[in-house]
Amino acid sequence: MTLIVQKYGGSSLADAEKVRHVARRIGATRDKGYQVVAVCSAMGDTTDDLIRLAYTISPRPDPRELDLLLSTGEIVSCTLVAMALKEMGYPAVSLTGFQAGIRTERTYGKARIAHIDPQRILKELEEGKIVIVAGFQGFTEDMDITTLGRGGSDTTAVALAVALEAERCEIYTDVEGIYTADPRIVPEARKLKEIDYEEMLELAVAGAKMQPRSIELAALYRVPVVVASTFSDAPGTLIHGEVSMELRERVRGVASDTNVAKITVLGVPDRPGIAAALFEPLAQVGISVDVIVQNASVEGLTDLSFTVARSDLPRALEAVRPVAQQIGARGLHSDERLAKVSVVGTGMQYAPGYAARMFRALADAGINIEMITTSEIRITCIVREERVKEAVRALHKAFRLEEGG
Ligand code: ASP
Ligand code: MG
Repeated sequence: MTLIVQKYGGSSLADAEKVRHVARRIGATRDKGYQVVAVCSAMGDTTDDLIRLAYTISPRPDPRELDLLLSTGEIVSCTLVAMALKEMGYPAVSLTGFQAGIRTERTYGKARIAHIDPQRILKELEEGKIVIVAGFQGFTEDMDITTLGRGGSDTTAVALAVALEAERCEIYTDVEGIYTADPRIVPEARKLKEIDYEEMLELAVAGAKMQPRSIELAALYRVPVVVASTFSDAPGTLIHGEVSMELRERVRGVASDTNVAKITVLGVPDRPGIAAALFEPLAQVGISVDVIVQNASVEGLTDLSFTVARSDLPRALEAVRPVAQQIGARGLHSDERLAKVSVVGTGMQYAPGYAARMFRALADAGINIEMITTSEIRITCIVREERVKEAVRALHKAFRLEEGG
């Protein structure tokens, strides 16, 4: 029998009726003759609610306790889905990340999967059961529970698809697929039939829909991933490695992300070792730095700015402040009200003019660019948060993404 791994997002499981709907979909897949492993996210905003609750108890919740707490969200949803399936007459079993054999490293809050021991899942499948796995979680060598970072159920699903050699991984969500831009921001946005791993990874990094690590994993093991709606039968977007050449010719999508904060270290001595001294403590506490800009130095002093996830800002400041003092920096500034807007497309790799077109479109909309960064197939600008939706709309238009292709 062919095995499919499915994943249902939190908004698809927000209440009891939706839980039943998801169970019906899983059952229908089973009726078509597939073995099914379904990964569930926590219901609705459960994870946010639990985080808030933890912070009302402690201003710095213990990371181990916080992960154990957050893991309960996914346990609630997967047990309910399993119950709903049984009510419908399907043999089903729910498993926590621990029971599913998902071993991770010990980085609480953003643990990476070390390996998966699929014995238990395989045994349940052999017994004819539909297996429902709690997403977003795993366990360490010492049997402590970890979580995989926000949106981590995507990574659980792809990792299981790899470990179980599934035919494909299906990600069910509240939109019909991957769009040229978020359709809530740009009503004319077009759904993409397909997209390659590389472009999807860049879009995900830039803020679109999926946890980037899940795409990295899918690309590495060449697992086809379909993103589609839980609530309709419209064909979704296929993420794979063989997109036809013509589709690579242009910008594929615009993405935005408001989870951005900037830290500026003022008056940093311009000599070897300073950047290392500033960024090492961030790495040590597991904070990833995104855009980095260092100004040309004036009289041996320079300003260094970088962005981190907004949720990491307090910890990032805490890590950087002592170093800034130590190296005699003139000051430390932070700004939380920023966002990034990106255009992505393999087509821009060797073609000139994309950056100019992007900057012109933003300028014409009167939007100031605070920082710029690029990869081979992505250009990202940091702008004020309150202008970011406008920026997305301006770029969607400038690159004519509403037109078919
Ligand atoms: N529930 C977790 C979150 O909201 C994981 C997930 O949804 O994938 O981030
Ligand atoms: Mg969620």
